[in-house]
Amino acid sequence: MTADELRESLLASPKNGYARISAEQRAEMEAYCKRYMAFMDACKTEREATTWAAAEAEKLGFKPFAPGMDAKPGDKIYLNNRGKSIMLAVIGKRSLADGANICAAHVDSPRMDIKPNPLYEDSEIAFFKTHYYGGIKKYQWVTIPLALHGVVYRKDGTVLTVTVGEDDTDPVLMVSDLLPHLAADQMQKPLAKGIAGEQLNVILGTEPVEGDGSDMVKLNILRILNEKYGLVEADFLSAELTIVPAGRCREVGLDRSLIGAYGHDDRVCAYAELEALFTIGTPDKTCVCILADKEEIGSVGISGMQSEAFEYFMETLCDAQGVKLTQCFANSFCLSADVSNAFDPNFPETCDRRNNSALNYGVSICKYTGSRGKGGASDASAEAMGHIRTTFENAGVIWQIATLGKVDQGGGGTVAAYMANRNIVTVDAGVPVLSMHAPIELVSKLDCYETMLACKAIYLA
Ligand code: MN
Ligand code: MN
Repeated sequence: MTADELRESLLASPKNGYARISAEQRAEMEAYCKRYMAFMDACKTEREATTWAAAEAEKLGFKPFAPGMDAKPGDKIYLNNRGKSIMLAVIGKRSLADGANICAAHVDSPRMDIKPNPLYEDSEIAFFKTHYYGGIKKYQWVTIPLALHGVVYRKDGTVLTVTVGEDDTDPVLMVSDLLPHLAADQMQKPLAKGIAGEQLNVILGTEPVEGDGSDMVKLNILRILNEKYGLVEADFLSAELTIVPAGRCREVGLDRSLIGAYGHDDRVCAYAELEALFTIGTPDKTCVCILADKEEIGSVGISGMQSEAFEYFMETLCDAQGVKLTQCFANSFCLSADVSNAFDPNFPETCDRRNNSALNYGVSICKYTGSRGKGGASDASAEAMGHIRTTFENAGVIWQIATLGKVDQGGGGTVAAYMANRNIVTVDAGVPVLSMHAPIELVSKLDCYETMLACKAIYLA
């Protein structure tokens, strides 16, 4: 054999996805990304994504979960977990004893949460105190337009939904930074300390109410909140208000090949799962789509992937078919759909280029995450990787390999370990992202589309 023939038959030779998709797929990709961008404009928090998913599911005939309900082939069921996460199932032709095909993504993203006693005035400026949520580089969150999203549980038991900063006529909020002229000391600090957590105070206003006394600007802000929403200061205690980047997602690049948005991690995989689930008809095996909360802070709590809410949902489906939950789990497969770090030529030293995902090379399969010797990782087996590889190949999904940075550079985790701990074979795969956890993250349209195809392939496997 010639070297060319050997090369052709022996070497893995990944090609840029644009060299591999048809004109027809290109058109589908553009249409898919338009729908994804509309979803992103509507959903910036786990609550908004949960509400959106439940509403879409209802339109498609999904029924709200109820204890003791049937689970017959073709039934479509969803459980809204207290407004903060959602699990959806399409019951397959085969028994749940044969397992389910599960895709699990998360819909929470790094941000700044409002503290329980947030409102104060200093130097005749009113502020909200915040506590950042998830892993952020704090310096990135100053001097950018911010929006307020969330809910307030009022004294009378009614729940108020608040969104300020997204409508073109709304004001936005902002955190200030120091002028360079006076930043001699600040500029000597390491990047992690240039802006401190307790400096992430959000400016709310500067106009005092008329009259004499202290905190007149704060009082004016409360007056505005009371007039608009009927709120009083004590209501902040029973609120979940969060500060996220304001504005809509945008096409990025002169060729429009990228999408810039807040919170691609991990709503880009959540949307892929959802659309895949909504378009599979009645599958062979039962398909389950999970949009989890709290991944960014360890998947803890009642709405995180470690919560038994998942068992509650699955056990009810299994009971309806007279199947033991443990047997269902033992035969199930889970795609832990989460983003990877796309190779960034501005920071090549942080990655092992041979094992890093790249923009436009398709859905990235990550055998293990973790840090310092795979610590905390759900290291997928050869068999699990083989299953996903074969499934993607058979479905014509463009895929690539991902690892999270070079060894000992850092690391991270996903929900994979919590699914695998349940005795469910689990593999991580998802969309490569540039500037992950920044206020605006970048993904490629091609990778978004391929990830939706990947979820569909897993559901139909
Ligand atoms: Mn993630
Ligand atoms: Mn993340």
